[in-house]
Amino acid sequence: MTDRLNALTNELQKRTENFDAALITSEVNRMYFTGFKSSAGLVLATRDEAYFIVDFRYYEAAVKKVKNMDVVLATDFKSELLKIIKTHKIKNILLENAGITLAEVLRLEAWAKDAGVSFIKTSALDDAINSLRAVKTEEETQSIKTAQEIAEKAFEKFLPTIKAGMTEREAAFELEFLMRKEGAEASAFDMIVASGKNGAVPHAQPSEKKFETGDFITIDMGAVYNGYHSDMTRTIALGKVSERQREVYNLVLQAQNRAIEQVKPGASCKDIDAVTKDFIYKNGYEGCFEHALGHGVGLEIHEKPSLSVRSKDVLKPGMVVTVEPGIYLKNEFGVRIEDMLVVTADGAQNLTSAAKDLLIL
Ligand code: ZN
Ligand code: ZN
Repeated sequence: MTDRLNALTNELQKRTENFDAALITSEVNRMYFTGFKSSAGLVLATRDEAYFIVDFRYYEAAVKKVKNMDVVLATDFKSELLKIIKTHKIKNILLENAGITLAEVLRLEAWAKDAGVSFIKTSALDDAINSLRAVKTEEETQSIKTAQEIAEKAFEKFLPTIKAGMTEREAAFELEFLMRKEGAEASAFDMIVASGKNGAVPHAQPSEKKFETGDFITIDMGAVYNGYHSDMTRTIALGKVSERQREVYNLVLQAQNRAIEQVKPGASCKDIDAVTKDFIYKNGYEGCFEHALGHGVGLEIHEKPSLSVRSKDVLKPGMVVTVEPGIYLKNEFGVRIEDMLVVTADGAQNLTSAAKDLLIL
């Protein structure tokens, strides 16, 4: 964890020279640097020391758990901050951009005036943290793997229970229940269960629609374990499929397998997305796959890197990414297949083991 703080200083120095400290305010980034989950608190990291300021609700547990920073008990956050600022003669403090509200910024700025410090509101701190978080340690990858195993166990148990007449909402509820029973802390996101025509909407909400014979059913699910997320999509068929459904399914699977082969260190995320879209478009489905090919997964369900049209990201060993092409045919059906992979020294390891050949239940 101390390494993580040192790495932050290094990353920040690449981006800016003009800072004495960084103020980490968002819950997810506090957890990343402290390893401690709390709904409130602040991390102030100077170039050589860091402080975790918490209130009485978390203080004792934080002292036990957090070993890489000084844990400070605060009745008033601002006065504790002021003490640290004076000790370290801090003038310029980097602020997070993404995880802070305007109300918090206004409060902090009123305080900063009195304290004689200024806040740097560039994206430097967010960029530095995002690039650190994108590359996972062994321990982080292990938590993601466990989250994925939980989701897959639930999925395998759920499959034999699918039948015509079950609603999408019932299915989503049952899957979440099974994940919890397998040890999930939570569902990684609002699960997608989309059948028939609903499957043509990439981010459909589970509805009261009942499964019917001949439906494709798209299930996009994930679990949370140790704060880390997993993400997987499978599309299965109920009863029978048409030739067109079979063709589309196999094309998506082929596109996904081709994309997975390109996941390796040094690969451009934008290129993998472009090549995959091109493959689907050239095979007769122009414009039927418009969302990003994939994204990083970790403490949040969507994080860096992004496998998308505008991405500037390049894959590095330790990154955990999804590969999730789809074909969406309005008023007909949709197919998406999503695996999660960890980039290794010379390629990638697929963390998803659920079968992908067309399954007709
Ligand atoms: Zn997903
Ligand atoms: Zn995803």
